[in-house]
Amino acid sequence: MYRIDIMTLFDLTVGDMMNESILGRAQERGYIQIEAHQIRDYTLNKQKQVDNYPYGGGRGAVMQADPLYQCWKHIVDTYGPGHTIYMSPAGATFNQTHAKRLLNEYDHLILVCGHYEGIDERFIEECVDEELSIGDFVLTGGELPAMCVADAVARMVPGVLSDPECFEEESHFNGMLEYPQYSRPEVWHDRAVPSILLSGHHENIKKWRRKQSIIRTRQRRPDMYEKLDLSSKADQKLLKEIAEEEKQ
Ligand code: SAH
Repeated sequence: MYRIDIMTLFDLTVGDMMNESILGRAQERGYIQIEAHQIRDYTLNKQKQVDNYPYGGGRGAVMQADPLYQCWKHIVDTYGPGHTIYMSPAGATFNQTHAKRLLNEYDHLILVCGHYEGIDERFIEECVDEELSIGDFVLTGGELPAMCVADAVARMVPGVLSDPECFEEESHFNGMLEYPQYSRPEVWHDRAVPSILLSGHHENIKKWRRKQSIIRTRQRRPDMYEKLDLSSKADQKLLKEIAEEEKQ
């Protein structure tokens, strides 16, 4: 079972989100366990204060090291050591490669959500293994980033999605964007589903999807397209077809 503990000031909200839908069912079935922990419960003062002014001056407040440490220690003492990640705009930018690495190299993650101006550096030095950002923008708290990481990793845990093919063909999994998807009805607002998808011819459908993936990746993400290996005979044939269709 893959375990993810999330340290946060909003444990109820985070818990609710993580218990919904696919991840909720996966938890009930015992494939994953995601638990949110209220950092405030680990303060040693009556007011349950978790933040204080920054040394050196400046605006805002900083989350103090000790409540974070006590919460972290409780998790480690209860569930064993976990790879600890501080969600931070100063971390490396999270992507599918990170998600696969976190899935393959660990079976226990501890995600730390900051708030206010951030957290005391000494907690990071003592307990944090790596820092991850979800993009070049700043949010008010680490909850949404932690849920992104938890979700991206958890959905790849075997058993969580019905079939590994669900994500193996998806955008970013193999360095490409996914082909367009369609569901019922066959015609909607005068727009028909591409006829090949109704043909039942699996080999042709597979080729069509691969071709659409190539076209999309080239158009939308030239940076990803550059890194693709399209040297196989089958891909070369698709590239030829694409070039010919573009001439028309
Ligand atoms: N003063 C900090 C930003 C604090 S934002 C700085 O300049 O780096 C408050 C909290 O939100 C952070 O502690 C972090 O946990 C979270 N956060 C904000 N933006 C984030 C991002 N892009 N990725 C991951 N976490 C983020």
